[in-house]
Amino acid sequence: MLTQEETARYSRHIILPNVGLEGQIKLKNARVLIVGGGALGSPVALYLAAAGVGNIGIVDMDEVDVTNLQRQIIHTNANIGKLKTKSAEEAIARLNPLVKVNVFNTKLTSQNAINIIRKFDIVVDCTDNFPARYLINDACVLLGKPIVYGSIFRFDAQMSIFWAKKGHCYRCLFPLPPPAELAPSCGEGGVLGSMAGIVGSIQANETIKLILEAPDTLIGRLLILDAWKMRFVQLKVSKDENCSVCGKRPTIKKLIDYEFFCAAKPQQTSDFKDISVTELKKRIDKGEKINIIDVREPFEFEMTNIAGSVNIPLNSVVSCAGEIDNSKPSVILCKSGVRSVYAINILKNGGFKGEIFNLKGGVMEWAEVIDKSMVKY
Ligand SMILES: [Zn+2]
Repeated sequence: MLTQEETARYSRHIILPNVGLEGQIKLKNARVLIVGGGALGSPVALYLAAAGVGNIGIVDMDEVDVTNLQRQIIHTNANIGKLKTKSAEEAIARLNPLVKVNVFNTKLTSQNAINIIRKFDIVVDCTDNFPARYLINDACVLLGKPIVYGSIFRFDAQMSIFWAKKGHCYRCLFPLPPPAELAPSCGEGGVLGSMAGIVGSIQANETIKLILEAPDTLIGRLLILDAWKMRFVQLKVSKDENCSVCGKRPTIKKLIDYEFFCAAKPQQTSDFKDISVTELKKRIDKGEKINIIDVREPFEFEMTNIAGSVNIPLNSVVSCAGEIDNSKPSVILCKSGVRSVYAINILKNGGFKGEIFNLKGGVMEWAEVIDKSMVKY
């Protein structure tokens, strides 16, 4: 039931046929955990609180810093130096004192994640680093909870819902983290402040729809935004049966050390040469027999690829190495020529004997120089 005060406050929801009184009661009873009280966490927390989501948890251990205020709109100048959880709790109380806020002034870790997440129905991933994303993913797969995912970097963003019960998880899409040195943070790479508003609002929107049991959510889809060109691309994604946490034979059955997982990398090899896209094109045109191996994820390969290339996603390189004909030279490629070096290291460390080239600049360079009709992303 709703009180008179609540009925008045949420009247613009209640008159929506898709929400109604019943939907508003669902929102009131919902328990949503926001991990990260920063850029994305700000709009998510404010919109969920305004919408009357009755129980909101926020996990963050940081204090408000002046450099946060360009995008973290839940915090204010007056709260510099204050804990972000405290600052967010105050902002929510000012906006809507009817919702309960439960703050966790801690970092989410392999030790506390299960106990914290267990108390909530939905987790909104508003973090900004890979160890946290894999940790949240694995904990939610183990607990059967959905994650409303968003990430922003510079002008680029990705959004999805990970729910192993109904579709893919984060690991199905990204089985391996990018090499640690290639995972810049917003501190290093910068981010346009308003991106947080766009993406956080979409996360709040999808969270509300999950609570209302709406049919068309981001389950099974990855939404990619290039805000500089203002283009949304949508990809269909499905569960990977071989996923190490939600697949048929999972190897991850409890939480692991995520800092270590994301920092681990194979020993570097220098036993390969770069090849330019023009050189590769020349050799293909001459009719030379070359293995062209694209190590991007299947959804990326499906979107755009070089004719004649074969897709062996990075996490399958070890198991598929034996199928590569090493009597011919192999050109390894990815989006921009970084993951391919990682794949070459895996192949060489695994004892691969053939001649190997790394395609400099990857598929995007090919799309820039050789085939301008190709999709760029
Ligand atoms: Zn999975």
